[in-house]
Amino acid sequence: MKSPHSALPSILARFVVRDDCLQIGGLPLSQLAVRVGQTPFYAYDRRLLDQRIAELRGCLPVAVKLHYAVKANPMPAVVDYLAERVDGLDVASQGELRIALDSGMAVERISFAGPAKRPWELQAAIAAGVLLHVESSHELETIGRLAEAQGIRARVAVRVNPDFELKTSGMRMGGGPKPFGMDAEQVPAMLRRIAVLDLDFQGFHVFAGSQNLKAEAIVEAHAKTLELLLNLAEQAPAPSRHFNIGGGFGIPYFPGDQPLDLEPIAAHLNAWLPRVRARQPQAELILELGRYLVGEAGIYVVEVVDRKVSRGHVFLITNGGMHHHLAASGNFGQVIRKNYPLLVGNRVSGGDREVVSVVGPLCTPLDVLGDRVELARADIGDLIVVLQSGAYGMSASPGRFLSHPPALEVLV
Ligand SMILES: *Cc1c(COP(=O)(O)O)cnc(C)c1O
Repeated sequence: MKSPHSALPSILARFVVRDDCLQIGGLPLSQLAVRVGQTPFYAYDRRLLDQRIAELRGCLPVAVKLHYAVKANPMPAVVDYLAERVDGLDVASQGELRIALDSGMAVERISFAGPAKRPWELQAAIAAGVLLHVESSHELETIGRLAEAQGIRARVAVRVNPDFELKTSGMRMGGGPKPFGMDAEQVPAMLRRIAVLDLDFQGFHVFAGSQNLKAEAIVEAHAKTLELLLNLAEQAPAPSRHFNIGGGFGIPYFPGDQPLDLEPIAAHLNAWLPRVRARQPQAELILELGRYLVGEAGIYVVEVVDRKVSRGHVFLITNGGMHHHLAASGNFGQVIRKNYPLLVGNRVSGGDREVVSVVGPLCTPLDVLGDRVELARADIGDLIVVLQSGAYGMSASPGRFLSHPPALEVLV
């Protein structure tokens, strides 16, 4: 396929295209749109979720556990589907906790992180028996008080803000001053306090960053994380059962992005396992992945509602945009706006191709899905597909902005 978007052919290779129409969930996209009953919609593909998990399981050491970070895509059907295929769920609010509990995932394998857990959220989590990732001294004291009141020995792990960063990450969440976790140097004092409060100490959590495509950077962060955790674990009131070493595995979105190479990450963890077993025999290594599990399995589908030419430039005006998919509009953490991979779903290669801008219905110049992209020539009624849309889509978008109807989400 001809495309100025060099990442598109490899991204598209995960999908089936038949008679020039994208197939999703075994249906041609145009038929799926009828089945869904409206555009715009998000579709998440079970086959692609399975494929991704199989790739990870096939590569990582068996002893490394896979958790799903619900924040990436909290659609209950997706969480339920993944709950049967991963080893744990990580949540960051009471809303996510409810979805995780509803999924049937064993409570011992649900953990709850986040910097502003309110007393009622903590209370609910203690009553449920999930693992609390403690993010501050104030939070620890609140947990101690609430656990005592309930007569439950709350399960806690310490989230550590390390003294290093995950290099070349899309978003950094560790290193330097951060609202997340306890600075590594304050952790020994917190461990002593956990002993005094007689809480059920389970281990540690480090999450250094997100959307990383460089295996070397992830390997380096894992090495530093494990070194740090093994040292901290010796000062803990109980043996560690959980070493949640974060994730940050990225997916390709933009021209030039290369998919993450899992092999060096897997080989490196494999080499660490004997050292971890020797010093903390009960500690499980956990990777918590959000985007990497779901991002490539989802598409966002909008319909062309107008086609206009302004001073020689073609605009495809669609019924969906930044209010459903902030990230694709370039307004979710990007510094320089780049196009997500786009195609005309019912006319993938097309006969004629042209350079167009794909915009949404909102009265703001920010509402752009594709700025000067080469697509098959599209008309009113055609379906534009934004690929790589399974993570940080609907739930990470300002749905109320301009009061247009919401998108639907389906798992196919
Ligand atoms: C956001 C977040 C994740 C998921 O990050 P991805 O980049 O989507 O894999 C995992 N853990 C924590 C603590 C997070 O805040």
